[in-house]
Amino acid sequence: MKQQILIIGAGFGGMWSALSAIRLLDQHQRLDIAVTLLAPQAELRVRPRFYETDLTTTVAPLGPLFDAVGVQFVQGYATRIDAQNRQVFYRSVSGEQSTLAYDRLILASGSQVARPPLAGIDRFAFDVDSLESAQKLEAHLQGLRHRPSSQARNTVVVVGGGFTGIETATEMPARLRAILGSQADIRVIIVDMGKQVGSVMGEQIATVIAEASDTLGVTWKLGSPVSMVDEQGVQLDNGERIEASTVVWTVGVKASALTQQIDGERDAFGRLYVDRNLKVLGQDAVYATGDTAYAAVDDLGNHALMTCQHAIALGRSSGNNAAADLLGVQPIPYSQPKYVTCLDLGAWGAVFTEGWERKVVLTGKEGKELKMQINTQWIYPPEAKRDIALAAADPLIPVVA
Ligand SMILES: Cc1cc2nc3c(=O)[nH]c(=O)nc-3n(C[C@H](O)[C@H](O)[C@H](O)COP(=O)(O)OP(=O)(O)OC[C@H]3O[C@@H](n4cnc5c(N)ncnc54)[C@H](O)[C@@H]3O)c2cc1C
Repeated sequence: MKQQILIIGAGFGGMWSALSAIRLLDQHQRLDIAVTLLAPQAELRVRPRFYETDLTTTVAPLGPLFDAVGVQFVQGYATRIDAQNRQVFYRSVSGEQSTLAYDRLILASGSQVARPPLAGIDRFAFDVDSLESAQKLEAHLQGLRHRPSSQARNTVVVVGGGFTGIETATEMPARLRAILGSQADIRVIIVDMGKQVGSVMGEQIATVIAEASDTLGVTWKLGSPVSMVDEQGVQLDNGERIEASTVVWTVGVKASALTQQIDGERDAFGRLYVDRNLKVLGQDAVYATGDTAYAAVDDLGNHALMTCQHAIALGRSSGNNAAADLLGVQPIPYSQPKYVTCLDLGAWGAVFTEGWERKVVLTGKEGKELKMQINTQWIYPPEAKRDIALAAADPLIPVVA
């Protein structure tokens, strides 16, 4: 019987884990170890682009790539992990329950936006966290054109002034004008608990965010959280009310619930603590990667963020190291000391920063050109050709954006 490396999830972490595991097995000519990937779809859903209007190009098929390198794809949704007996229970598309056994498991099931238990949030707030929810928002925005003009119809409230909130809000004036007409009296408002515009992103970059917001007419309502959402808008904790037919929730993120089925320490986002080889602390056969892993990126105390920038490099390491474990060869410790940010700022452009303090390097049009390159090329899967795909999965390739 073949030994099994089982990967849960076909996102950035899962896809790169599969490729890097096969790369190492290939180098050792070990055909007796199989790599199986379990996910609802054999496609990479490019979540960093879900704030955009055109969602058709945000899904990259993975079937041909998996066939080219020999990943066995199982379509299904993992429901339970039995780490003691090394098996994963899953539900197939037709609803049948089945199990998959493993010798090494790589948990790459990602994350979701964390909606707090606020009145009206589940019924009335949109988000841009998944393909389905982004499509729902786009259909709703398109539907606004059929409603009579009113302040609520013309207003979008984005809750949260972090990375996702800023990208969603700064794109919104152009999206709304394309639907409601160039003369429509539109309002885009970011509601954020901070005291200053863009304060969670760092001082230097905040100045750029403020300038772009002003130019685009995106306003910030600072210092008070949202306490309630309804069909006609939001209520703030300080008693203020904003009339809006569209409310987009972007605050908070939590790691996939599957992390709770593994015994181990977790951080505030639910991510599993892992060692430098990305094996879950206290486990002998389970690795975590991407948004499910709380992993040190350097020796200075910095940790991976829940970003695809980190998920790509984490994936290349976890796959390699799970395979190395079975082969009995030296793993390659995960290391990603360089951290950059490229934040889209709609029609204003984008801002590119370097370092954990986010030192501004490029802005405006130049920043935008880089952002487009990252979003349409760099983070997409490699070509479905065996040699090219396996070469791209080398864990020592630095990820720079
Ligand atoms: C709007 C938005 C903008 C963003 N912008 C940026 C950006 O500019 N830069 C950046 O670096 N990052 C950005 N991110 C973050 C980035 O998208 C995530 O960090 C990244 O997707 C994490 O990759 P992952 O592989 O860990 O998880 P995911 O990409 O979430 O993939 C998880 C995979 O697991 C599968 N899965 C989940 N549950 C199960 C289950 N029970 N059984 C089987 N399969 C399962 C899913 O179907 C999916 O295939 C953004 C995210 C959003 C939502």
